[in-house]
Amino acid sequence: MIEIKNLCKNYGSKYALDDVSFTVNKGEIVGFLGPNGAGKSTAMNIITGYLSSTSGEVRVGGVDVFENPDEAKKLIGFLPEQPPLYIDMTVDEYLNFVYEIKGCKLNRKKHLEEVRQVTKIDDVRGRLIKNLSKGYRQRVGIAQALVGNPPIIIFDEPTVGLDPKQIIEIRNLIRNLGKTHTVVLSTHILSEVQAVCDRIIIINEGKIVADEKTESIAQVVQDNRRYTVKICGPQREVMASLRSIAGVTRVDATGERELDSYTYLIESQPGVDIRKPLFYAMSKEGRPILGLEVAQMNLEEVFIRIMDKTEEGGRK
Ligand code: ADP
Ligand code: MG
Repeated sequence: MIEIKNLCKNYGSKYALDDVSFTVNKGEIVGFLGPNGAGKSTAMNIITGYLSSTSGEVRVGGVDVFENPDEAKKLIGFLPEQPPLYIDMTVDEYLNFVYEIKGCKLNRKKHLEEVRQVTKIDDVRGRLIKNLSKGYRQRVGIAQALVGNPPIIIFDEPTVGLDPKQIIEIRNLIRNLGKTHTVVLSTHILSEVQAVCDRIIIINEGKIVADEKTESIAQVVQDNRRYTVKICGPQREVMASLRSIAGVTRVDATGERELDSYTYLIESQPGVDIRKPLFYAMSKEGRPILGLEVAQMNLEEVFIRIMDKTEEGGRK
């Protein structure tokens, strides 16, 4: 659905994108993951025809974005980092305006109603956009992208600035859209792509450093196992017994305490699953385990892991 070959973009002497190539297949939900300044917005703005490239090819649904920008744009619904909302319009006025400028041919009343329902903004349709909360504004931004029913949806950091409840709502909405659309979204939050995407493309300093199915990234991420565990009993004694379990390489107290239990961060040797030995050791000592889960890595740690892997691969 989207084919990008050797895409480069420089701003003066600075490379924002350096020889980027990837494809997105029909029906996929792909996450574009990278830290701030990685080049995510630049890539998305080029794919959607809002920005020119320095060199390279971009095809969307077989259409060359640089040769036929208007035709390519019809295939894409885009939510830019700053949604182009006219805040002095009501939601209805705005969606009608978008319908007009997109030259939409679908039945207006029926189509806009559908869009309002999918994005759950029906109850605010008469309100001025400037009076809406950030979460509702974002949904209006998404609604705008859906007008005309384009087969490809591109969202640039769709959950930035939202509260946790709104984030969950928007993620659910994106997942649902993914059932009927090809979706690309950018984010700097690893758990976001893990929650929503089939595939993850990691970009750093304008270069793609990984392009993997989400499950495979999870494997990379969990290679060196780390757990947070919450155990009843005096902290010093518990730490000593945790350290004596075969395969445990490191134990730290997180400082979190609840009544007579403390939380610890445990690292184990790669390839050793310490969960069962941990359970037996603690039950033998009569120390109830109140919680045990795989510790989430943050994006920096994932990068380091992936860079290490890439170097290993290069040496072979
Ligand atoms: P991201 O969306 O991943 O945060 P961007 O694509 O916005 O990253 O930016 C990539 C790099 O290009 C950054 O270093 C940024 O400072 C630079 N950049 C972006 N837009 C411009 C511009 N208009 N002029 C100069 N530099 C820019
Ligand atoms: Mg950006």
